[in-house]
Amino acid sequence: MKQIYRFNEGNADMKDLLGGKGANLAEMTSLGLPVPAGFTITTTACVQFLKQENYFEQNLKKDILEAIHQLENETGKSFLTNEPILLVSVRSGAKFSMPGMMDTILNLGLNDIKVKAFAKLTDSSFAYDCYRRLIQMFGDVVYGIAKESFDKILAKYEASFSKNATDFSIIEQERVIEAYKDLYYIQQKEFPQDPIEQLFIAIKAVFHSWENPRAKVYRQLHDIPFNLGTAVNIQTMVFGNSGEESATGVAFTRNPATGEKKLFGEFLRNAQGEDVVAGIRTPQPLSELKKLQPNAYTDFIHYAEILESHYRDMQDIEFTIDKGQLFILQTRNGKRTAQAALSIALALVEDKVITKKEALLQVTPTMVEQLIHPVFDPKALEEASLLAEGLPASPGAASGQIVFTAEKAKEFHEKGRKVVLVRQETSPEDIEGMVVSEAIVTSRGGMTSHAAVVARGMGTCCVAGCEALTVNEENLMITCDHQVLTEGDIISVDGSTGRIYQSKLQTVTPISNQKLQLLLSWADEQADLSVRANAETLQDLTAAIDFGASGIGLARTEHMFFGENRILEMRRLILAEDDQEFEVALQRLLHFQQDDFYHMLEITNEKPMIVRLLDPPMHEFLPKDEQTIAELAASLNKSPTKINKQINQLHETNPMLGHRGCRLGITEARIYQMQVEAIFTSAIQLNQNGYNVKPEIMIPLIAEEKELIEVKRSLLQTIEDLFKKYDVTPFPFEIGTMIELPRACMTADQLAKEADFFSFGTNDLTQMTYGFSRDDIGKFLSIYKEKGILPEDPFQSLDQTGVGQLIQTAVTKARQTKSDMKIGVCGEVGGDPQSIAFFQQIGIDYVSCSAYRIPAARLACAQATL
Ligand code: ADP
Ligand code: MG
Ligand code: MG
Repeated sequence: MKQIYRFNEGNADMKDLLGGKGANLAEMTSLGLPVPAGFTITTTACVQFLKQENYFEQNLKKDILEAIHQLENETGKSFLTNEPILLVSVRSGAKFSMPGMMDTILNLGLNDIKVKAFAKLTDSSFAYDCYRRLIQMFGDVVYGIAKESFDKILAKYEASFSKNATDFSIIEQERVIEAYKDLYYIQQKEFPQDPIEQLFIAIKAVFHSWENPRAKVYRQLHDIPFNLGTAVNIQTMVFGNSGEESATGVAFTRNPATGEKKLFGEFLRNAQGEDVVAGIRTPQPLSELKKLQPNAYTDFIHYAEILESHYRDMQDIEFTIDKGQLFILQTRNGKRTAQAALSIALALVEDKVITKKEALLQVTPTMVEQLIHPVFDPKALEEASLLAEGLPASPGAASGQIVFTAEKAKEFHEKGRKVVLVRQETSPEDIEGMVVSEAIVTSRGGMTSHAAVVARGMGTCCVAGCEALTVNEENLMITCDHQVLTEGDIISVDGSTGRIYQSKLQTVTPISNQKLQLLLSWADEQADLSVRANAETLQDLTAAIDFGASGIGLARTEHMFFGENRILEMRRLILAEDDQEFEVALQRLLHFQQDDFYHMLEITNEKPMIVRLLDPPMHEFLPKDEQTIAELAASLNKSPTKINKQINQLHETNPMLGHRGCRLGITEARIYQMQVEAIFTSAIQLNQNGYNVKPEIMIPLIAEEKELIEVKRSLLQTIEDLFKKYDVTPFPFEIGTMIELPRACMTADQLAKEADFFSFGTNDLTQMTYGFSRDDIGKFLSIYKEKGILPEDPFQSLDQTGVGQLIQTAVTKARQTKSDMKIGVCGEVGGDPQSIAFFQQIGIDYVSCSAYRIPAARLACAQATL
């Protein structure tokens, strides 16, 4: 097996084998760019090395020696003996760039004797500068001796000799080097004098660095597989530190912050390697190179253009100028902000460099999310003091005064103040307070907790499950470590990172709406899946349509029973002791809901809207605290004792598995009938006024075909009666079911006989399949993740192997019964790119997610087809 490729043997498509850096060095070599000669040891060799003892000695050594020998021939220089001296760099480079994870060693091959010869050949200070750097980098990378301890020694000598290191005499330089070696000595290490030994040890260290903890954490964070290994590049040194005619620098072919088409970079004269980024001296902007080194500058412009048009993307280029001669040392697709990514992708399409499809791959769904939400000014963030970190539940950034109750939130808001609602967790009763808050913070609950779901729906920034905060709602106080915050204190909340800061921070909105709309229109052309919204308030429905929803996949009707007047009627209904009282409440609720549905359907009109009938258990609508119970008793003209008793009777041990969903629709058919009456009278009215509404009714929590038959029968009767009553020609409508129980998945062929459509409720389905309570998963999820038991929160990204299999089975079974059955997914994972890719594979028709996730989901749906 070939384990080593010279730069002139590989190409850019060999990233698996040669790593990103190696593959691009090879590609640039074949493009004829001035790349110092070298070779790459493959990632496969690294993997073997990490698996097998003695692999290096038995299988790799010989090949490396041969490659070095070839490099000596190619360059006409000598690595092993003295003159002319060949020095090399040993550079790590995995398939995916892992910045700062694995280090590079420069100037390898120097030793006590060769440095003297090198000094004679060049000039002494430069040669010793290289040697000193080698000893430092080698100590750091190979033996883990901190860079800073070397830096301290150098600073001490610079002070005592009162000059810069570059001006040291040979004797002074040797003093520093001795001191460096003492550092090794203290750690019982030695700097190897044999160049070959240096090389072997360095290569092994780079291989091993694949497994260092920092690299592991980075891979975990960025979903990079652990079994890839890193390649190692051995490359002839060129010297940016060989005098004032030399320099080293980095440049982007476009501005990585804005996307502007203009070379953007920096360089440092008489410097090497990481000096530019290390901030030792202030680098000069690239434009100044034009005056200092016009030839090298012109060459650079030329090569940068070649590289960008060759790779058809913005490039991040590392270069070095050695006594006026330019060398290119690395190129890769440059990292960029969301705004830049969007601008660059569109500009490249306009210039016919890339296709629309390729443009869709240059922007990520996360970037799209950033483009529609404000973020904190990066400069402000640098100086901000972090208070705590929780789950990034809903993106966005906002500052405001802390309040602990929904009432206070409203009160402050009415006085024109900006508030952040901080609670242990939120409940439906907090809605009005949540609406007026700039941000929402909870100390408990996960990514699908009430706060998280509602906040995402509203596009309000939210950090959930911030366990570091102890929220004392009674005493209006937050404690965090030793700090105490009280009502009115200002905090800043970053819902994209989960971080909470202690002061007010400035925000910026990098929005570029027209550009985004253009890109997303290309996405829609490409996508198979369409994107609907989970929305029910008029505000959310409007936002959903603005964000390009093809319809509404889930309008929950729960909220229609909250709100000031309604909740009383709902409570009256639940607590009714005779039919008359029940009917009174029902008629009033009907009145409210008719009005609601009229306005909702008016907004969506021809676009489909799935309305889900009442789902939660009854007691969620009942008050919990004594005072509200007393008030309720007064309004209903009952005794508080009586009400307390009724509430106790409604109590359930496992409400999530209790008297809810279609079970309510069956035991008390009049509630569902009332809802359907409200929907259809509104629809009839609208259609008479020239609208084209086709209601879609969804029945929740079906487990058994007969449940569906029962509910449907009663609803069809209601609808038929209404058409008669208003004397209108029946218009098309659909009655479907939510699939959110494992039994429903397994009997989907039977359910499909009765249902016009299916929509997978992945939140409940995941809860019911795993047996994980959505509201309690926060207590153990982080430990499960740490231990690698769960790679991620299954409520956020679909568990494809378990829940996904159930869904796939259900889809197959349903389409056996009805081949053209319309099947969607509503629930949090509907907005998750990875889950979307899975839904694409199994033939789902649409996903539905909260309004503010729609733009990102539209892009993800397009990417799923590419
Ligand atoms: P990283 O992956 O951290 O960017 P690199 O392998 O690119 O590490 O090395 C960092 C820097 O070291 C390069 O940008 C370049 O300035 C310098 N360098 C690496 N190899 C050489 C070489 N053969 N000659 C001169 N400088 C080099
Ligand atoms: Mg680099
Ligand atoms: Mg549900």
